[in-house]
Amino acid sequence: MPAKGIGAHRKTLLLVTALVAAVLIAVSLAILLSLLLRSAPDNGNAGVEDKSNYRLPTDVKPVSYALTLAPFIYSNIRDDCYFTGSVSIAVEAVNDTDMLRLHSVRLEVPTVRVRNSTGGDVSVEKIEENVEKQWLTIKLGEPLRAGETYTVLIDRFKGKFVKNGKTGLYLSSSYSENSTEYYLVSSQLEPTHAREVFPCFDEPAMKAEFNVSLVRGREFTALSNMPIKSSSLVPGNTWFPNSAEPKSVIKDDFETTPTMSTYTLAFLVAKFQSISLTDSNGRVFTNWLPPELVQKSNFTLSLAAKAIGAFEKLLNVTYKTNITKQAGVPLLNFAAMENWGLIIYQQNILVYDENTTTTKSKLSNALTVSHEIVHQWFGNLVTMKWWNEIWLNEAFSIFYSYLGLDLWGSESDLDSHFVVDQKYKHVMNLERKRYKVHPIQMNVSTPTEIDGLFDYIVYYKGGSVVRMMHNSIGARVFGAAVSSYIRKHSYSNSGSEDFYSSLNEQLRIHKQSLDAETVMSSWVKQVGYPLVTCSMENGSLLLRQQDIVSLSHKEKSNLTWSIPITAMTNLNHTGWSRSEVAHLVHWMRGETLRLPLDSSTDWYLINLRSSGHYQVNYDRQNWDRLATQLTTDHTVFTPADRASLIYDSFTLASLGIIDYSVPLKIVTGYLENETEFAPWAVFWSNLKKMTSSVLPVKTVKRIAKKVFNYVTTVTPKASPLVGMLAELTARETCDRDFTYCINFAKDECNKCKVENSTCLKNPDISEDITGYKCKTGK
Ligand SMILES: [Zn+2]
Repeated sequence: MPAKGIGAHRKTLLLVTALVAAVLIAVSLAILLSLLLRSAPDNGNAGVEDKSNYRLPTDVKPVSYALTLAPFIYSNIRDDCYFTGSVSIAVEAVNDTDMLRLHSVRLEVPTVRVRNSTGGDVSVEKIEENVEKQWLTIKLGEPLRAGETYTVLIDRFKGKFVKNGKTGLYLSSSYSENSTEYYLVSSQLEPTHAREVFPCFDEPAMKAEFNVSLVRGREFTALSNMPIKSSSLVPGNTWFPNSAEPKSVIKDDFETTPTMSTYTLAFLVAKFQSISLTDSNGRVFTNWLPPELVQKSNFTLSLAAKAIGAFEKLLNVTYKTNITKQAGVPLLNFAAMENWGLIIYQQNILVYDENTTTTKSKLSNALTVSHEIVHQWFGNLVTMKWWNEIWLNEAFSIFYSYLGLDLWGSESDLDSHFVVDQKYKHVMNLERKRYKVHPIQMNVSTPTEIDGLFDYIVYYKGGSVVRMMHNSIGARVFGAAVSSYIRKHSYSNSGSEDFYSSLNEQLRIHKQSLDAETVMSSWVKQVGYPLVTCSMENGSLLLRQQDIVSLSHKEKSNLTWSIPITAMTNLNHTGWSRSEVAHLVHWMRGETLRLPLDSSTDWYLINLRSSGHYQVNYDRQNWDRLATQLTTDHTVFTPADRASLIYDSFTLASLGIIDYSVPLKIVTGYLENETEFAPWAVFWSNLKKMTSSVLPVKTVKRIAKKVFNYVTTVTPKASPLVGMLAELTARETCDRDFTYCINFAKDECNKCKVENSTCLKNPDISEDITGYKCKTGK
């Protein structure tokens, strides 16, 4: 081989080597750069900020807060009121970073200081506010080091009370003991309003301990999540330098909270009074309300104490906070807010008056108390990682609020009340109309998107889906899964997958071959719900599922759900517990399911106790046979079953899927013998779907007469649902001017004229409800 060749070859080789090396370096640099970009926190200064990202970086996590809030509410002029405060946040750096980012909205923040663990200052280069994303970004002169702890000090920040505001720390007015009007402050921080009160890491997974102090006038009471540890008198100008009054104020320091999310903090400064009770475990429960209302709140105070005990038993997890306060304020965005240790309600919810409160209000208020109490486990002790899974708080609290209420002694069938009040009234009607529909679990980022999740889908459809799962796998298996889920994630955060994993563990132990995630995802990640159509074919029962929402809008749909099918027939309706239907479940995973059916079967019923979140249609023969059975003996079916037969037949007829003669046969055949609330509630609310030519008014009058006589002679408030039935029947029959209702109202009126006392003493059949005015006549 020639040398030249060799020489030339060497040269080419060197060139190629250099080129390859250059390419390799370039590729390596590109990879390195892309890795750096991916792992680098979004520091907001790079000029390529992700506009859709509203989350805080996770380079720094809060450990504890020392927070003092001083509301100035001592002027008669609303606009002169404000609040000021100081916060010191102990944080831990998870990664090296030269940037700190917190949430802050509409707060004046004069200074931010950062100190290292030895007390040395970390220099602050600049502070930037991002109004859109509600961020306060602190650019540091030197980086924080991973693993080190630091303190962020923000002294004398200041906030204004927003006019008509009901979020963050907000102003309202009430009356003191001597009936003078004054300003009070209360708080509502869920979901993203803690940032309106003090600069903080306002995300549910950024849990920390809080040492709260509240500054108040001497005649005021300050309340927060924890009990007061100590109080001290300080000059008023320490906190309110520009005001001559008050000359001195009291600073209440509260005990340290458990590790918790910012959104369950609570602050209240008002001239309230309290009543207390101590339970058998020595735990103190207190209600705080305006003076004229507090003595009327014994019912809801004892209810809270009972509910805590009931849920401890039901969830098998002890309630850790030994002091629970409930406060009633004049102004609140929601019915109530479950703040840990200080639940705040609209004040009327805590008040009960035997002579004027209707059973309907009493039950609805009791369910609200029960809901807020069970949040102390679902939400406060275990919190969702991010708001997209708020159903882990709300759907569970809705379902358990009914279950817990049953446990403390009511003999009523509250489960059937759930079916009509939540599932039918609030969910299915609205979902079929596609009213603001979305999946139960959906991605959210901005505060507006997060707010949008607090709706009927997450609460009521979520509650109905949780109930379906509970009923389908059985109370024992479901209860064990929930208990283990709460124990595993106490003082921490969880996601849906954590709940599914606890559920799967118990399903395996109890030898049920089911994958929780597959089943639940079809309900929480899809919109709508199915219609199951049944028919007898070749000696077996053929079931087919369709998307009823698309069907209602005459559209095609490929959606299918994992559906728990339960069935009973005229041959097997006795000999098993109606409250436990889990052992009867067949899971329908595809479009159809075939079930064996005895050839001598007369009628069959699907979806027992309306446990599944779906509707059912039968062939005409079976509808007729079910109607005949209802007329012969309706007690073969539970009140929830009877309600669902009325609901399904009415709504399917209104959609043109079946003929109106089906619901007509059901209600004219048996309803006059019905004395339960659920079937009647469904009947009255669906009556407008049927024209008077199909169901004449005189027939309705005849059907309702017996139940009217029943509710006006039975012991008032025999049970919550009898009271509810009384109110419903009086309202619907008097609204339609049925003579028996009008005559009853007149008679009652005449009786009270003789007795010279208040008319219509039963609040469930009062003047307001019958519309009959005793003094002036109708
Ligand atoms: Zn709630």
